[in-house]
Amino acid sequence: MENIKKLMRNFDVISYLESRNIAVTESGKNVGKGWIGIQCMFCPDSGNHLGIRLKENTFSCFKCKTSGSVLSLIKEVDGIDFKKAKEILPLFQKDTFFYEDEEKDPIIEIEKNDNILPREFKKIIKGEEPLSVKKYFKRRKFPLQYAQKYQAGYCRMGKYAYHMILPIFMYKKLVSFIAVDLLGTSKLKYVFCPNEIALVNKSDLVYGFDEIKNADKIYIVEGVTDKWRVGKNAIALLTNKCSTSLLLKIKSVIKSTCKIIVLLDIDAKRNAEQLASEIKSIFFSNEVLFIEIEKKDHAKDPDLFGKKQLKFIHNL
Ligand SMILES: [Zn+2]
Repeated sequence: MENIKKLMRNFDVISYLESRNIAVTESGKNVGKGWIGIQCMFCPDSGNHLGIRLKENTFSCFKCKTSGSVLSLIKEVDGIDFKKAKEILPLFQKDTFFYEDEEKDPIIEIEKNDNILPREFKKIIKGEEPLSVKKYFKRRKFPLQYAQKYQAGYCRMGKYAYHMILPIFMYKKLVSFIAVDLLGTSKLKYVFCPNEIALVNKSDLVYGFDEIKNADKIYIVEGVTDKWRVGKNAIALLTNKCSTSLLLKIKSVIKSTCKIIVLLDIDAKRNAEQLASEIKSIFFSNEVLFIEIEKKDHAKDPDLFGKKQLKFIHNL
């Protein structure tokens, strides 16, 4: 019993909340010193009124007055019972604390959930696109309808605040997502769904996979917007390393006579050779065309292709 108390006191509540995509306010309105604030899940709160006192790891909501221990918080956040909540404690311990394992391995596998989208995810509805989404599409010269076509969503709050969320489907199942930073506030323009949440790892992902079933011709590009630009029959690899099993999956859904056109960014040249030989070895029975984008083409990325260039590659 003593052990549980220790684990509760040393529980790294911030890391835990972040792992659950819950936005944490560390200072400002409603947040006192030594406290952090989050949106209360016990009442219709919109102002981070649920305060967590870091020293004691206890919480109370200034609005609905619900209070309790960190265990009750975990119970509520994860939607689990006390017994299961206790099992979460050893997973998020502060560095200074060493867990004395009496039994061995306190590691508990968290079951992956089918609902992998951030909890703040809202589908972008036609006519109700947030301004930053509209600007993004305009700046990149994409039709606004692509938001619906590609089932994009938007987060106004949380870990992915002001990000557009692009779900990635494979075999009609939502397996991962990419978050696009619309305001340029985060370090990275694109953020992947973390591996511990995603149902498929990055190197095994391809964007647009379900659209190439029985295709006669496919374009392999890099990155989601390249896929958007090239359009029909284009799929995007999402890392510069692509697994053999992924290429085999692609091969299994296209026609045996399918023509493969590979369009790689200039920047990616170094990886291009390795990728090209892998593609050649998997698709040895197909016609494979590698299109190198030259400097004189102006656009160094398929994403920036103009009408003429698009027409050229569509006629290949
Ligand atoms: Zn409350």
